[in-house]
Amino acid sequence: MDFVGIDKFSLLDFEDKVACVLFCKPCNFRCPFCHNGTTVLEADTTIPFVDILEYLKSRKGLIDAVVVSGGEPTLMPDLKEKIIALKELGFLIKLDTNGTNPETIKDLYESHLIDYVAMDIKNSFIKYPLTTGTKNVNIERIKQSIDYLMNSGIDYEFRTTLVDEFHEEEDIIKMGQLLKGAKKLYLQKFVERESCIQKGLHEVSEEKANKYKDILSKDIKYVSLRGY
Ligand code: SF4
Repeated sequence: MDFVGIDKFSLLDFEDKVACVLFCKPCNFRCPFCHNGTTVLEADTTIPFVDILEYLKSRKGLIDAVVVSGGEPTLMPDLKEKIIALKELGFLIKLDTNGTNPETIKDLYESHLIDYVAMDIKNSFIKYPLTTGTKNVNIERIKQSIDYLMNSGIDYEFRTTLVDEFHEEEDIIKMGQLLKGAKKLYLQKFVERESCIQKGLHEVSEEKANKYKDILSKDIKYVSLRGY
């Protein structure tokens, strides 16, 4: 399965690293606030993987890392083979995931193929169906991914895009309980774009985001706002 998008040069997607970001198409969620709604999840053209490898070879020394993003990369049947090829070129690998495939995260880490994982925590578990636009979310698998990231030794972050229509103080308190002891959580500012799945959603104000940060900081070692 080929990637459907590439950001050839990003300073925003992997902390302190110059990265190339690859986007895959499949996703098992339809988060209403997703920025990749039209550009990725409905893309009908792909980029041959050999072309991506050629580009990356030509940028060795200029790019530190490759971010494998989506969509949901763990749904790509040949993800591991692709990451092996990227690793062979000497790049660090960051995996962006919604956490629905804990076995894949574990396999990639234990095969020494990923260096960093950014996992979305969409909301309190009770609000997952609403926040992911998906009726049947297997919360057990999300919990397994959270537990694995927190206990495996892998370098990771959790991240939540705050949307005023979906996040209330009660959800934030529940999120603190489920992530108790976690290393790092970023609260990301939602920005409305033409490519969002649902139109008319709103960002959480900076004041409210700071309040949420304070609540979560009681349970999580490092909480920071991103994009505010
Ligand atoms: S934001 Fe949601 S719908 Fe969009 S790629 Fe991530 S998990 Fe899939």
